[in-house]
Amino acid sequence: FSKIPSVSKDLQSRVPPYAKLLTNLEKVHKITNNTPLTLAEKILYSHLTNPEESLGGWGVSPIRDIRGQEYLKLSPDRVAMQDASAQMAMLQFMTTGLPDTSVPTSIHCDHLVVGKNGEEYDLPKSKETNKEVFDFLESCAKRYGITFWGPGSGIIHQIVLENYSAPGLMMLGTDSHTPNAGGLGAIAIGVGGADAVDAMTATPWELKAPKIVGVKLTGKLSGWSAPKDIITTIAGKLTVRGGTGYILEYFGEGVDSLSCTGMATICNMGAEVGATTSLFPYNDAHRRYLAATGRKEIANAADVALNQFNFLKSDEYAQYDDVLEINLSDLEPTVNGPFTPDLSTKISDYAQTSLEENWPQDISVGLIGSCTNSSYQDMSRVVDLVKQAADAGLKPKIPFFVTPGSEQIRATLERDGIMKTFTDNGAIVLGNACGPCIGQWDRGDVPKDTKQTNSIFTSFNRNFRARNDGNRNTMNFLTSPEIVTAMIYTGDAQFNPLKDSITTPDGKQFTFTAPKGEELPQRGFEHGRDVFYPENDPKPNAEIPVKVSPDSDRLQLLEPFKPWDGKELKTHVLLKVKGKCTTDHISAAGVWLKYKGHLENISYNTLIGAQNYETDEVNKAYDLDGKGYDIPGLMMKWKDEHRPWVVLAEHNYGEGSAREHAALSPRYLGGQIILVKSFARIHETNLKKQGMLPLTFANEADFDRISSGDVIETVNLADMVAKDGDNGGEIDVKVTKRNGETFTIKAKHTMSKDQINFFKAGSAINYIGQQRRK
Ligand code: SF4
Repeated sequence: FSKIPSVSKDLQSRVPPYAKLLTNLEKVHKITNNTPLTLAEKILYSHLTNPEESLGGWGVSPIRDIRGQEYLKLSPDRVAMQDASAQMAMLQFMTTGLPDTSVPTSIHCDHLVVGKNGEEYDLPKSKETNKEVFDFLESCAKRYGITFWGPGSGIIHQIVLENYSAPGLMMLGTDSHTPNAGGLGAIAIGVGGADAVDAMTATPWELKAPKIVGVKLTGKLSGWSAPKDIITTIAGKLTVRGGTGYILEYFGEGVDSLSCTGMATICNMGAEVGATTSLFPYNDAHRRYLAATGRKEIANAADVALNQFNFLKSDEYAQYDDVLEINLSDLEPTVNGPFTPDLSTKISDYAQTSLEENWPQDISVGLIGSCTNSSYQDMSRVVDLVKQAADAGLKPKIPFFVTPGSEQIRATLERDGIMKTFTDNGAIVLGNACGPCIGQWDRGDVPKDTKQTNSIFTSFNRNFRARNDGNRNTMNFLTSPEIVTAMIYTGDAQFNPLKDSITTPDGKQFTFTAPKGEELPQRGFEHGRDVFYPENDPKPNAEIPVKVSPDSDRLQLLEPFKPWDGKELKTHVLLKVKGKCTTDHISAAGVWLKYKGHLENISYNTLIGAQNYETDEVNKAYDLDGKGYDIPGLMMKWKDEHRPWVVLAEHNYGEGSAREHAALSPRYLGGQIILVKSFARIHETNLKKQGMLPLTFANEADFDRISSGDVIETVNLADMVAKDGDNGGEIDVKVTKRNGETFTIKAKHTMSKDQINFFKAGSAINYIGQQRRK
C-alpha cells in the first residue's frame, strides 16, 4: 500500500490511515474467503482493533451472519465533541490520569450560544454567561492537546465536514448528528462521553455489528426537491425506530445528482430514524468538496485507495439486509411534524392535512440553517427565492432567522452578497452556533408557558416538544430551507409555494419559480475571521491547570460510582413511563444545558418530561405512602433513604440523542435498573457505561402486570455476570406486588463481556482506570 500518496504535514492528522486500514481489510478478506462486503462493512472492519481475533474467533462464514449479533471492537481515528457533552467527557477523561488523547480530538463551542438578536449581541452575552465552561474546556484542550474551536466558530458537524471528515474515516462524536460526516464517506457515530473516552484512551470501542439497509437512489433531483426531502421522505417510511441497529448505506445512480453537502444533510438526519449512522460512497462530489476545502491531497490519497485497492465503495454482489428504493425524479418537497420527525406530509397535501389535523393556520416564524442545512448550495438556492420575492415587491410576513453553520460558510455568504440580500430583506442572521435548534432561542414573541399552540417552519433536524423555544406547544415542522423561505412570504399554512400565487403590493399575482443555486462557491470558500480558527494539531502541555472552581454551580469534579457488591439487585418501581420517552424527556436540554458539567445540579432535570403511565401526569411520581413528588424530587428522596429504584418504560426508550446525562443522572440518583419494552441503541449503551442494568421484557405483556411501588429483584444476576457475554442473555426477575403477591418474569440484557465488566466495576470509566493501573 505504499502507492497511497502522502499528504503535507498540516493534513496528516486529517487523512484516514489508508495503508493501515487496507492492511486490516486484506486480513478480513482472507479470513472471510473474500466475501463481498458493503462499503459500511469495509470501513468498519478495517477499523477492527484486531481482525484475526474478532473475525477468526467467530469463525464467520458468511460474514453477514455477524450483523446484529456480534460485537465489534473498533479503533476509531478521531473524536469530536460539542461544548455541552464535552464537559462530562472531559471530566471523565481526567479521571483516567492520562497526559493526552490517543487520537486527534476536537472540541466545538456551539450548543451554549444563544440565538436571539444576531451574533454581535448574542455572542458576547453567551461568552459571558458560559465563561467558566468555555474556560474549562479551553484549559482541558490546552492541557491534553485537543483542538479547541471557540464560541462563534461554528457548529460541530459543519466544521467537521469542512475540516476533518474524509472517505473511509471512522469517527466518534459526542452528539447524535455526528453521522453528518457520512456525507463525505466517513463512518461517523454519535456516542456518549464515556464512549468518546474509550477512543481518546485507545480502549477498543465496542459496537454491535450493525445490519445494513441499502438505500438505492434512482432518478435525479430537480426543481424544488432538495436533499432534505430525501431524508424526510425516508423518515416517513422508516419511522423513528426503523433505522435502529442499522447503517443506511446509499447507492445507485441518483447519488450522482447530489452535492457532498446535500449528502451530509441526508446522513445528518439518519439520526431521526434511529440509524447507527449513514454514509455515501466516495464520488466526484466528494473530490470537488475536498478540493474546495483545501484537502485535494486527501482526495488524491482516497483516489488511490479506491481505484487501486477497491476501498471506499461496496463490492459487487455485496448483500444488504434490506433495500429501500427512492426515485429522486418523483420526489416532492415534504413537511415533517409536528413533534416527531417521521410524520411526513407532502407539500401538496399540507394545506388540507393542516386543516384536518387542526394545526395552526398562521405560521409564526421561519428558521433556516443549522448543521443540517447551511451549505452554500442551500443558501444560494434560498437567496434565489428571496431575490424573486424582493423583485416582486414582497417582504416577509413573519420573522425569518438564518443560522450559518461555520465562520467559513458565513464569510463566504457575506463575500458573495448573500448575507446582505438576507438582511436587506428582513432576515436576522444569528451567530455561527446551534442557537434555536437546541432550546437556546430566547424568543420574545410567544411566552414559554402559553397553552396556545403555534407553528414554526424550520430546516433543522429535530422537532420534539419544547426542543426549540422551551414551549411544549410550539409545533415545529421540518422541511427544506427552500420551503421554509417561501412560506415566510405568506405565513399561511394554506400556501403551496410550488403552485400558489401571492398578490404583490401593486396588485399583480406572483408565483415563485423553482429555486436555483450553486453546489460550491465559484470563487472558493472564504476563510473568515482568524479569531475563530484554532491552532492546528496543538501539543499537550501538562503544566496547564484545568480550571474548575470548587464552588462552581456549573462544573463539578466526578466521584466514581461504587462497584457492584456481588449481590442481587433489589429495587422499587419509582415510575412507569407512558409512551414516547426520548433523551429530551429523560434529561431535558434548554436551560439545563447550563449544568452539563455539574452532575448533581443537572440531575434535577431527570425525567421531568416523562408522562406517568398510571396517572397521565407529566413529571409526577408517588412515594410508597401515596404522597406525590416531581420525579427527580422522589429520586433524590429515595437516594437519601438508600432505596434503589427501577423505572419501567415502553418502546424505544431513550431515542433521540447521545445525551449521556440521561444515563448518568438516573445512576447518580440511585437508579439501578431500567426495564423497558425496547431501547434506543445509544441510550442503552450509555446506561451500560454508567453501570446501570438495562433490561427489556422478554414478554411485553409483563409491563402491564407491574405497578409503581412494586419490588423488582434480580434472581440470577450473579449467574448472568459469571456466564453470559458477547451475545447478552436472559435473566429472571422476581416481582413482589404491594399486596404481597409474587411472580417471576423473564427479562433480556444485551451486555457483552466487557460491558458486564463495566457493571461489575461500577462504570466503564472505573473499568478503564482499573485496566490502566494493572
Ligand atoms: Fe447543533 Fe442542532 Fe445541529 Fe445539534 S442538530 S449540532 S443542536 S444545530
